[in-house]
This record gives sequence, C-alpha cells and structure tokens, in this order.
Amino acid sequence: MIPTHVTADGRRVVVAAALVHRGRLLGARRTRPVSVAGRWELPGGKVEPGEDPHHALVRELREELSIDVEVVGGVPGPLEGDWPLSEDAVLRVLRARLVRGEPAAGIAHDETRWLGPREGDAVTWLDADVAPARTALARLDTWVDFPARALSGQGVVLRVAPLGDGRRGVVVDRTPFHPLDPGWPDQPGDLGSLAGIPVLDCLTGTVDDHGELAVGAGVGARRGDASRTWVVVHVVDAAGDVPRPGSTVDLEVDPGTRLRLSRAHSACHLAALALNEATARFWRKEPPRRDSRGRPFLDQLAIVDSQVRPDAAYDAYRVGRTLRKAGFDLESFLAEAGPAEEEVATLLDAWTGRGGPSRVEVSGDPTLGARRTWVAEVPGGPASIPCGGTHVADLAEIGRIRVSYRPTDEGFAASTTVTPP
Ligand SMILES: [Zn+2]
Repeated sequence: MIPTHVTADGRRVVVAAALVHRGRLLGARRTRPVSVAGRWELPGGKVEPGEDPHHALVRELREELSIDVEVVGGVPGPLEGDWPLSEDAVLRVLRARLVRGEPAAGIAHDETRWLGPREGDAVTWLDADVAPARTALARLDTWVDFPARALSGQGVVLRVAPLGDGRRGVVVDRTPFHPLDPGWPDQPGDLGSLAGIPVLDCLTGTVDDHGELAVGAGVGARRGDASRTWVVVHVVDAAGDVPRPGSTVDLEVDPGTRLRLSRAHSACHLAALALNEATARFWRKEPPRRDSRGRPFLDQLAIVDSQVRPDAAYDAYRVGRTLRKAGFDLESFLAEAGPAEEEVATLLDAWTGRGGPSRVEVSGDPTLGARRTWVAEVPGGPASIPCGGTHVADLAEIGRIRVSYRPTDEGFAASTTVTPP
C-alpha cells in the first residue's frame, strides 16, 4: 500500500482546511503548544499512517471544531502542491465547504473566526499559514452588491486574464456589477467603468484550483459547483491600461442602463405573476405547482427562455405533452389571448399604480453564488420568485407595463414593454 501520510521524499503530511462558508475563510486560534499559542491557523492536523488525507481533514475538523466538512479541492503550494512547514513535514491545504455545524473552539483552539476577503491581516497567522491563507482569501467567490442595488464600490484586483478577441477580464474581490449568468442568461451584464476604464461587458467566470479562469459559455460547470471559485469578470479592452493585481479600484455601474434593465426585470416578474392569474381558468386539473400568490405557476412550469432588455423583455414558453397532460389547455388560452392580454394589463396597472417595495433577499451570503429571491408586495399575496437579477426599489418606478402573447411552434411567447413614468 502506498503510504499517504508521507510525501515521496518521506516528509510527514499535515492537512489544513481552507474552509469557506458564505464567502468567508475560517481561521482558528491555537492554544498549544506554548510556542504557538495565540497564533492563528487554517485548522487541520497530521495524517495518520494509512489514512487518506481527505478523510484526515474531515476527522480533524470533527474532533477539533465539531463540524462536518466536505473536501472540494485544494490550494496548491510550491512543493509539488504542498506548502513548507518544517524540515520533516509539509502542509497540504485542502479547500472544503461546511456541511453541518458551527465551529466550536475545543482543546486545540480558543477562538474561531470567519474572515472576509480583506480580513487576512486581522489575525496573526502561524508563519507557515501566512502564504496559504493569503492564497485562499484571494480564491473566495466574488462578493456582490448589486442585489442591494449598489451602483458604485471599491474592489481589490485579484487577477487580470486575456479573454481573446482583444479583450481582458478583471476579477476583483467585491463589485457592484451584475454579470450575465451562463446558466440562465436572462439579464445582460452591467456596463460602466473600472478604475476609469470602460467595462464593455460583465460575465460570470470560474477559477479552478490551478488558477485557470474560465468565462461565460466556457465555464462548463453547474451554478454553485463548489469545486470552482465563482467570480464576476469585468471585460475591458486589452489595448488600454489595466490595473495591477493587488491594487484597489473604483467601480462605477452605468446607472441609466442598470435602471432600464431593473425596470424590465421587475416588470418581467410581475408579468409572470399576472400571466399565472390570467391563465388560471385554462387549467383543467390541479396544477403541479402554484406561485407565491397561490395561482397555478404556468410561468415556471413552461418557461424555456427569458431575455431582459432595457425597458423590454421577451419570454418563450413550451407547452409540451407533459404540461398538457398536467391539465393546461393551450388552445383555449391562445383562442382567448386578446382578453388575457387585457386582464394582464389591468392587473399590472393596479400593481404598479399602487406601488410598494421591491427587493432581492439574499439570506446572509454576500457572494455571487448565493441563492437570491425577488420579493414584492402585490394585492392577493406576496410576490416571490427566485432570481439572480437586479430590480427597482419600488414598483411605482416601473411605469406602465404591457404584455402581448403570440403562438409559437412550442407553445407561446410573451413580449413585455415598459413605458417609464
Ligand atoms: Zn429574475
């Protein structure tokens, strides 16, 4: 059997966790031995003879901090992937995610702390942990402020990479920019500037354990895949100046474009809820799903494509055999599309005319990968739809929304237009 607790040159392997939860890295303060007491580390411990290093890390964190973690990757160091520790031992840093529990200090530690991307210097690390902790902090998912409607902010540049076609991608630790989501590309990326340089597009990217950046359609991973770092990529012209990694830059989102997209996105969701209400009478059976207002959720059951554009949106719906079997009568709806459009218009006029707060809920996770939900108050129940986009602060900001329906080969399409107040 190949010994897993030592390296090829016979040095003992000590595993340490780059444990990340909600965009923060866990640090733990040592109580022993006396020589290191009070210094902070990435928690872990020695790999036992015959033990798999991943299992060793899971075991150590369970024993020392009473948490369950899952290893999702590594933070490779300069010694064939490991980090220098001592003459007869190396540190192997593994990326992990929290599965269960809250870290509780035990015998080996007297304090733990979740550190944000700029808090690496807030604690005094053990000498051997300084470099891997810094590397791990530069590998956190991008913190995003667009859900709170931010238009400006400051970011620390983490990487600049060529994207081809004369463009470069800039990744920062925190940004107000909304990127296009490759999994559900409904709302285009924000435009604006970074350090005064025009941002031509904004995309979602991932970084793998070796620091390789994949962007847009090249991401090739499912949203939320924890083996990758999920980042916002600001696209700039490769010909001009680009700020260096480590520098702090001002980020400015173009407010006009953002507002027109936010109006359209909020309008698109209101139109979806109005569609659900106006088509409730075309269901011949109990529908498989209902929306937050209790109406049959035709929008979510049938939608196959959504395009949010400045003050406009386009949605394509497929009504196939499954949905017909489930009881939706497409032909009757299409025969009465005119009256349905009028009913939808009346509902939307009432909802936007009355106004009311609209917001994106994020549940404590500041990163791009967080689950987000758009929530607004409309008569007849709360409006609530899972959503990664941006929205107006109040429904009264949208103005007048009109929707038209037309048949397609697959089902039907909806065109939404916004006339701002
Ligand atoms: Zn949405």
